[in-house]
Amino acid sequence: MATAQVESTKPTSTITSPLCVGETFNSYAEAELRIHQWGEQNNTLFIKTDGKRVKHEDLQKTVGYEYISYACKQGGPPRVGSGRGIRVNQRTVKTNCPVKLRLVHEIIDGEHRLVIKTLVLNHNHEISEEIYKGYPENRRANVTPELVELLNTPEVSNTVVRDFIKREQGVHMLPRDVNNLRKRVHMEAFPKSEETEVRVINIYSSIRLNAQQLGGSNSV
Ligand SMILES: [Zn+2]
Repeated sequence: MATAQVESTKPTSTITSPLCVGETFNSYAEAELRIHQWGEQNNTLFIKTDGKRVKHEDLQKTVGYEYISYACKQGGPPRVGSGRGIRVNQRTVKTNCPVKLRLVHEIIDGEHRLVIKTLVLNHNHEISEEIYKGYPENRRANVTPELVELLNTPEVSNTVVRDFIKREQGVHMLPRDVNNLRKRVHMEAFPKSEETEVRVINIYSSIRLNAQQLGGSNSV
């Protein structure tokens, strides 16, 4: 299998500088942001695989961890096929990718820091923006009120919703993702409970009321 060396090739004015061993962070939030931004620009999705929280209360809101380990989304052993010819989703296939990053809590010149101690960035599989955006973690839409309204409008097709999410948020969802999101949002808007009947009656009476009001103003 060809080895893909990570290189930042994107023509952007805010290219994140390369990660390096010994780089330090004042807080966990700072480290997470940096790792996420670098990953985004280099089509690498880091997944947290291990971590130990700090005990001291004062440090919980800053460095947060004694150590944290990350691996590539495609790290871990390949799933064994079922032998029934069912294709494993190529986008999430595990290839035992060796990419990893480890942060460790250290005190440097009397200051608490998280330090990059281990850094391996050679993927053993193809990487691309398309593959990166296809990982399930990156196919999640930000559920805004506008999106909820679209999803709860039966006349708006899944394709239209999918294009909207791609345009507005740069998230490439699969048709089934939109379908699942639609179901979830619909369930939240109309939960199946004892109150549903009451809610439906209330909705109908308010619709009737609105219709009467509209009818009244339209007939003038
Ligand atoms: Zn990888």
